[in-house]
Amino acid sequence: METAIIGGGIAGLAFALALHQRGLACTVYEGVREVREVGVGITLLPHAMRELTALGLLDEICAVAIENEESVFYNRWGQYIYREPRGRHAGHEHPEFGIHRGKLHGILHRAALQRLHMPSAGDEHAFGGGLPAGCVQQGLSQGFQALAGAGGQAQALGRHVLVWVRRRFA
Ligand SMILES: Cc1cc2nc3c(=O)[nH]c(=O)nc-3n(C[C@H](O)[C@H](O)[C@H](O)COP(=O)(O)OP(=O)(O)OC[C@H]3O[C@@H](n4cnc5c(N)ncnc54)[C@H](O)[C@@H]3O)c2cc1C
Repeated sequence: METAIIGGGIAGLAFALALHQRGLACTVYEGVREVREVGVGITLLPHAMRELTALGLLDEICAVAIENEESVFYNRWGQYIYREPRGRHAGHEHPEFGIHRGKLHGILHRAALQRLHMPSAGDEHAFGGGLPAGCVQQGLSQGFQALAGAGGQAQALGRHVLVWVRRRFA
């Protein structure tokens, strides 16, 4: 079975690497021509770290992330409200990390380039952002058995699949 993944962000690349690890073929279609490390600081909770560790990315993440020991809350006058331990310090098997989204995306992107088929912008199968309809038609006509929307366009993808199926079988 071959899967087409639309969107090479955090979710799309992590999904692609997980499929690849299980021996399932996939192709990632990303809309932007150049991947840059953009974003804000995000928290990787232990269940996310379990998946990223399974993908063999723990060392690279450790090199650029900060392990969270606890969350502490204060009000705007600096008065203490509440604290709780996090990740391994709260008894979880896996740690909780603070990381810049762009750094995480960079790690996933480098791993995907090494392990997977990612069409380049000039590839005839690649497509620009905002083209889920074209993607659906390309994907189905190219014989992909599954399409995964990972670019915030899952609903749009669903709509286009429905339109395509109605036209195809009307
Ligand atoms: C301020 C902020 C704080 C956050 N904090 C956290 C946090 O602490 N912990 C946490 O887990 N999450 C956090 N998140 C959420 C997290 O960043 C997102 O859940 C995550 O980035 C979603 O990944 P994604 O792959 O779905 O989308 P993205 O990372 O946005 O990637 C989508 C990709 O799809 C591509 N694309 C879009 N449309 C198309 C198309 N038609 N064709 C081809 N490609 C397309 C885009 O170019 C992009 O590369 C935060 C988000 C924000 C904004």
